[in-house]
Amino acid sequence: MAAKQAEVTLFPRYAQKPEKYQQWLSSIQERFQEHLGRRGLKLTHQREEILRCLMAAEKHLGVEEMYTILKKQDPLIGRATIFRTIKLLQECGLVAEVGVFQNGGAKFELKADRPHHDHMICVECGRIIEFQSPMMERFQDEAIKRHGFLALWHRHEIFGRCAACSKKRTGTP
Ligand SMILES: [Zn+2]
Ligand SMILES: [Zn+2]
Repeated sequence: MAAKQAEVTLFPRYAQKPEKYQQWLSSIQERFQEHLGRRGLKLTHQREEILRCLMAAEKHLGVEEMYTILKKQDPLIGRATIFRTIKLLQECGLVAEVGVFQNGGAKFELKADRPHHDHMICVECGRIIEFQSPMMERFQDEAIKRHGFLALWHRHEIFGRCAACSKKRTGTP
C-alpha cells in the first residue's frame, strides 16, 4: 500500500497533461457557465477560482480548507462566497458532497468526469478512502428495480477507523 497517495485517486488521467488539463478545465467551466446563465448569474473570477481549487484538489475539501487555500491567492474571498458557489456547483452535478463530520461540516469533491465511487470515512483522523465495488452497485440496481424506484444518484458512506487508526488502538477491533 502506498503511504503517501492522493486521497482523490480516481482523478481523470488526462488531467496530468497540461494541454489536456486546459481542455478539460474549459469544458467544465463551460458547463458551470451554462448553469449560472440559467440562474441569471455570471462566472465571476472568484467562482472560477473556487471551481479550479476543487479541480486541482488531491483531497476531499471542506469550506474552511478551501478558504485557507483560496485566500492566499485572493485575500478578498469570503467563506459565504465559497459556500454559495459550492451549492451552485452541486446543483449542476459538477461537485458532490462527501460525509458529514463531527464539526458539522461536509467535504466536497469534483464529480464531473470522474467514475462513480463510494467512500470510507475514518472518524478518528478524517481520512477518506475512495472505493469502487461493481458488485455492490449491481445489488443496489437490483433492489431499486424491485421497488420500481428511479434512482438519480446515491451516496454510500462507511464510517469507522482506518487501518492506521485501528492499529493505534491495540486490542480494539
Ligand atoms: Zn484514521
Ligand atoms: Zn471521493
